[in-house]
Amino acid sequence: MDKVIQTQEIIPRYYGIVFERKQGNLFIIPTSFAFGEVLRKSPNELKEYVAEWQKHKSEHLEKYTQGQHVYRPLFPINGYEDLLYCKPDFVVESILDGITKKHGSKNLWMVGGEEAIKKGYIGASALTAEVKARHHGGKKGSKTYWSVEMDSPLDFDGLPKYDHEFCQCWDSYWGIVKRGTHVVCAHIAAAIDQLYDDDLNLIKDKNTEKRKVWLPFNFIDRPNEVDRSLIAPHIEFEDQPDPAVLIIDVLTSAYVKNDRLFDINKKLAKIPAIYNRNLERLIEDGKAYYGVLHQRKKSKRMNPEYEYAIRNLKKQMETKLLEMGFERKKIDVLEFADTPWETVCPEYINKEKSIRLVFNNQFPPVYTTRNVREGETNMFLPIYDMRHPFSKLNKRFTDRDDKTKKIGKTKVIIPSKMNIPEILKPIYIGFVNKYHPGDTRQVSNFLKENGL
Ligand SMILES: [Zn+2]
Repeated sequence: MDKVIQTQEIIPRYYGIVFERKQGNLFIIPTSFAFGEVLRKSPNELKEYVAEWQKHKSEHLEKYTQGQHVYRPLFPINGYEDLLYCKPDFVVESILDGITKKHGSKNLWMVGGEEAIKKGYIGASALTAEVKARHHGGKKGSKTYWSVEMDSPLDFDGLPKYDHEFCQCWDSYWGIVKRGTHVVCAHIAAAIDQLYDDDLNLIKDKNTEKRKVWLPFNFIDRPNEVDRSLIAPHIEFEDQPDPAVLIIDVLTSAYVKNDRLFDINKKLAKIPAIYNRNLERLIEDGKAYYGVLHQRKKSKRMNPEYEYAIRNLKKQMETKLLEMGFERKKIDVLEFADTPWETVCPEYINKEKSIRLVFNNQFPPVYTTRNVREGETNMFLPIYDMRHPFSKLNKRFTDRDDKTKKIGKTKVIIPSKMNIPEILKPIYIGFVNKYHPGDTRQVSNFLKENGL
């Protein structure tokens, strides 16, 4: 009999940029810098942002309805058109309702200015500050300000030197306990934003007076001209959304439409205008990559015997990879990104190969394999391969690795030379037949090769 059971499919929490370090990986979340700006802005400034957002979005929608050639926005307004044709106050109320529901307080929005960040100080290179929490500090003794530390937010010849980050908030704590990962949360981001925006006039030491700040994602200004050939055609490129518009896009997406932060971050990662140009270069050089922090595993009503078989197979696959000398990476990555089969995958690597275990409840387990150093980097052009993973079995095909954004050759493989549990065999056979119809010789050879 079916029952609700935890599957091996991973539910993602955040998407962001990973820097591997000895002292624990650094995980930079784009939305942190948008929320950092919301924390810093006064309610009046944010209301002006809403008015700008309404103007921008309604102009775009008008062009679209008139049949003009406009690009599809990353944050479409579908179903929420009413928000464009009302008083800004109404939009503010809708966002505030969502913020209150999620955080139990309006703190994210209602503070702003110097009140949002207290006791900010930067010494030789370390920044310390107290940043307003987003949550309600109602419990006795609990803080409404978090202490943050950051060494160093400064720019060292265009490069970051992020060695140490600390915040008292849940995001920060959760990253450390889960994977020994240091997360750049909204509070640390707000402090970095403040330092960048103030040109070090507010918080400074004479040693750091003249130093620039290394801001990975910029929701404050647009210091860099973007190479238009880089911009994905589904972004409104005639109007690269300015910071005000993008911040309200993020807020309405997170708090009115209740989109997942994972998806919002994936969208922001597609916008070249917000990137520090040196961050782009570091990704191109393979010194940083895109990863996923996971929330938990998905539960589903199903036959428990099937799920036990899947777990057994997963254990066999993991053991085999470790025996072969592969190393399990701490940060998960995406496979089949931006398709209906997008999956958060544990990654195993050795010097030459990257292998990911793909556990998705829509199809039986497979793994993907690709060469580590292969290919040109292409971060922003949209490349979507809408073929089903099982239609790509056992042959090398070209795709873009979501982790490195390199174009290279990938293979999708059924775990072979393993003890595939009996209950899974007919399911594999069904999928192979479905996606390779009519190809009887290939299919039977293939099934034999895979011990099916
Ligand atoms: Zn924090």
